Amino acid sequence: MEDYLLLKAALVTEGIRSDPASVAEVGTRYKEQNHGLFGWDFENHTEQKLPDDFTLPDGTVVQYRKNSRSPYHVVPEDGRLHLHHNEQRICEVKWLRRPRYYTEKTTKGNDMIKIGQLGGQDCLFFCYQNYCSHFAKKQQCAFCNLVSTSDVYNSVMRRKDPVEVGEVVKAAWAEGDTNHVNLTGGCISLKREIEIVSEILSSIREHTGFDSVPGTLLPSPAKGEAIQKFYETGIGSLCFAMEVWDKKYYEAICPGKAAGTSHDEFVENIKKAVEVFGEGNVYTIFVLGLEPKENFLAGVNAISELGANVIPFVWSPNPGSKLYGHRAPFAEWYAQTNREAAEIVREHKVPAGTRNHCYLCDGNSLLHDALREKGVV
Ligand code: SF4
Repeated sequence: MEDYLLLKAALVTEGIRSDPASVAEVGTRYKEQNHGLFGWDFENHTEQKLPDDFTLPDGTVVQYRKNSRSPYHVVPEDGRLHLHHNEQRICEVKWLRRPRYYTEKTTKGNDMIKIGQLGGQDCLFFCYQNYCSHFAKKQQCAFCNLVSTSDVYNSVMRRKDPVEVGEVVKAAWAEGDTNHVNLTGGCISLKREIEIVSEILSSIREHTGFDSVPGTLLPSPAKGEAIQKFYETGIGSLCFAMEVWDKKYYEAICPGKAAGTSHDEFVENIKKAVEVFGEGNVYTIFVLGLEPKENFLAGVNAISELGANVIPFVWSPNPGSKLYGHRAPFAEWYAQTNREAAEIVREHKVPAGTRNHCYLCDGNSLLHDALREKGVV
């Protein structure tokens, strides 16, 4: 049987290209990319609608990352889509259905698609403010292309109205596929961010009837009393974007962020968040591929000991980021590293927290697939 974890790792590190006929219905029948925050493709594609993600035969969700030079390409054959590696046919792939709400408008007349986008198969994504102050001082994280993506595509509203967010959640949930929300914002003051998040969560709860909203909130690093305040908004789990575990790598790769939140502060607040949200309901995000495997696995071990989960995104050296033109480690490295990380998480018995995040939520992490191999999620 095909090693789908390794195949996914290859697809997100080498990118993919598609025969034009295979993407003809992307944006109508199938879900297209909408660039709600970052761009993950190896090259921009303003004139071309491309899939956001797709599935492999075992249900693995894979993020679509355009690379015109990739050996992986999709061609339509016999009414199906087939993935090839150079001349060799590998397996069937399926683009994901385009949600019906993508063509609907809010009561204020705005396009719902410009407010919230479906990530993966079942996670509704909102960026409540596409802004990061680190760019103005050239202190942005070296892998980040937030500003460039927003300038190149300009495809979403930069600020979201809480009532409209609630309307989008209601419309998306009514279709039956959505199971989680994922909320994030730029770097704004923690006080203001708590106010914004409270208004948004009140609106979501009002529009859906949820007491506790299944999903994740990724604010600017939550600290001290803010953690309890975020909990009181009614979101199910809290995320911390540490990005890189090793202190020195972190300071070099994320200068602006490290100046505001140290490695030790992250750890201290993740610990506190687990006390407030409960084991398994706190996530730590890493960009995997920027530091040696041993450093990353030491981070997975330390975070697991705290009772928190890890989401390691596969680094894409995307256009607009300082590291554009570099390349990520090879697929074998990612598959092996994630399998070792999954074993660490399993040994620590960290609750999977699938009410808030699951392997269908995004095609960018391999760890939830490696955990699925072990029967953990
Ligand atoms: S904190 Fe870093 S990753 Fe987040 S938006 Fe700013 S530069 Fe990008």
